Amino acid sequence: MINLNPRKDFQPKSATVLGSTGSVGTQTLDVIRELGIRVDMLTAGENTALLLEQIKDFSPKTVAVGSETAALKLKTELDLAACVTVPQIIYRKDEVYDAIEHTDSDMIFHSVAGLAGLGYALAAARSGKRVGMANKEAIIAAGDLIFDLMNAHGGEMIPVDSEHSAIYRCMEGKDHADIKKIILTASGGPFFGRTKDELENVTAAEALAHPTWKMGKKITVDSATLMNKGFEIIEAVRLFGKPENQVDVVVHRQSIIHSMIEYNDNTFMAQMGRPDMRDCIRYAATAPHSAKVAHDSLDLTEIFKLTFEKPDTDAFPLLDAAREAIRMGGTFPAALIAADEVAVEAFLADKIGFIDIASVVGETLGMIDGREITEEDLAEADREAREICRSQIKKIM
Ligand code: MG
Repeated sequence: MINLNPRKDFQPKSATVLGSTGSVGTQTLDVIRELGIRVDMLTAGENTALLLEQIKDFSPKTVAVGSETAALKLKTELDLAACVTVPQIIYRKDEVYDAIEHTDSDMIFHSVAGLAGLGYALAAARSGKRVGMANKEAIIAAGDLIFDLMNAHGGEMIPVDSEHSAIYRCMEGKDHADIKKIILTASGGPFFGRTKDELENVTAAEALAHPTWKMGKKITVDSATLMNKGFEIIEAVRLFGKPENQVDVVVHRQSIIHSMIEYNDNTFMAQMGRPDMRDCIRYAATAPHSAKVAHDSLDLTEIFKLTFEKPDTDAFPLLDAAREAIRMGGTFPAALIAADEVAVEAFLADKIGFIDIASVVGETLGMIDGREITEEDLAEADREAREICRSQIKKIM
């Protein structure tokens, strides 16, 4: 679990942003601009066009891209754009991880999506810096490995995932033992209220229309299946050291309460605000303080009412699959992520239907071997789960 006492005197002057061209990455740069933080390093994958714009805006000393091809492309684009300050471009994974581990930045924002963020998370943990953590997959797959490294190097982590940012703010400065329950709120996604039968023919376009949060494609589908909420149960278990049966989920359609805790004396603490990732990203930089902002306050009378309902685990079985994966422990959570990545990709490519996502993921979990969590075993569990999930998908295509 993570420490609940953020450094009080922390005021970041410089930052490294991992995954800067993604949905959370671009919102992280909005916050960085707003707080007047200097950018030392940006990492991205293949989107060199957007990275070039970010280089012009933030003048980092170093940028990392996902391949040699992307590095060459970016170099050509930089030459054509005649940038005043040209950053060093790196792309080899070991070189990128080394740059993260030895960064001069005051803090690292980890906004890489998916299990691909694991190596970045381990490197960030080794840096001994504050890490604003938006990559849930690394925490789910290997939270304890990351936290051990972080503690050994004197770093700290502030969660950025909105629910966990909320829980962190509720638990901050408290003793873990005083908290009876964590209550994650879920928007319910675009298909809330539908039965399993009614989910049979839903399309990728319908799944991609999220009611309240603006996010990337993969996580938007995960919100529609409630897999994302399942992942967040595991993320809460890892971050806050509570067993899964002390992590509840309630559907809260308005997304105003971002999550809650219940104390031993049955009283609650909730954190509320606009559904905007930038509020969570900003808090990771300013915690335990809160920065003055330019946007309008939330008018609670305009929201009028807040509702809470039970999630339907028959229609959305991936919520329970996540509970099972964390109970099984070892590499099962990592395998769950890998299987879901493969299944969602197949759904977005129209190869399988919406409800097939949960079936193939469930089947995959039932067929894999659990292992201990080490870096090598995680890689093997990932490979194994992807392979099994692909063969389950072939059977129904
Ligand atoms: Mg979330």
